Amino acid sequence: MNDTLKHKGLRRQLIQLLREKGIQSEPVLKVMEHIPRHFFMDPGLVNFAYQDQAYPIAANQTISQPYTVAFQTELLDVQNGQKVLEIGTGSGYQTSILLGLGVQVYTIERQQILFKKTQRLFSDMGLRPKKMIFGDGYLGMPTEEPFDRIIVTAGAPEVPKSLLNQLKIGGKLVIPVGEKKQQMLRFTRTSKTSFDKEKFGEFRFVPLLENKTGSI
Ligand code: SAH
Repeated sequence: MNDTLKHKGLRRQLIQLLREKGIQSEPVLKVMEHIPRHFFMDPGLVNFAYQDQAYPIAANQTISQPYTVAFQTELLDVQNGQKVLEIGTGSGYQTSILLGLGVQVYTIERQQILFKKTQRLFSDMGLRPKKMIFGDGYLGMPTEEPFDRIIVTAGAPEVPKSLLNQLKIGGKLVIPVGEKKQQMLRFTRTSKTSFDKEKFGEFRFVPLLENKTGSI
């Protein structure tokens, strides 16, 4: 697949729209302006890549809406070189933005078909997350903790304790919480046992799959 001038033009318009919708982080906007979202879309939907909408990918999942990706990434507030855990690799679009921001990405996907497809895409694109696993994001990645940042890209019915426990002191977890609709929450670990909680707006995500409903 190519990244043409037409794609670049559409991307510039999308970035302008994200600014108008309130995204302010220049590093986030700059990286998103350079990432070819059409590489991450299902082949039949490539022409919609620069619409600000979520679209279906394999296994009944979605590639998140660019605004949502920008919003969550802005809230995550990453610094160069940090260790970031992502739950829900999906299409890999969010992963590629984190990599573009210069962090070390550890990512977990629950659907094997997506895991395999996206692993192949990363290798074709020369993108290198530190670690990419097929597994259950509820558990986090105990072999690699603690993390500076954790981002969950599916709607969680409640906040998984294991994720809070895998944060460094000062680390942040950005997670949409709720059943039908989700509220965007950001937890900051202030000590071994305490967390600050901030609430942001409402969003709609595909659900974070629990063990019993997953396809493992
Ligand atoms: N970041 C992705 C968003 C994909 S949608 C993107 O930009 O495309 C959410 C993803 O979370 C889906 O791929 C879904 O399969 C995955 N997921 C759902 N439950 C999960 C779990 N328990 N652990 C890991 N991934 C999960």
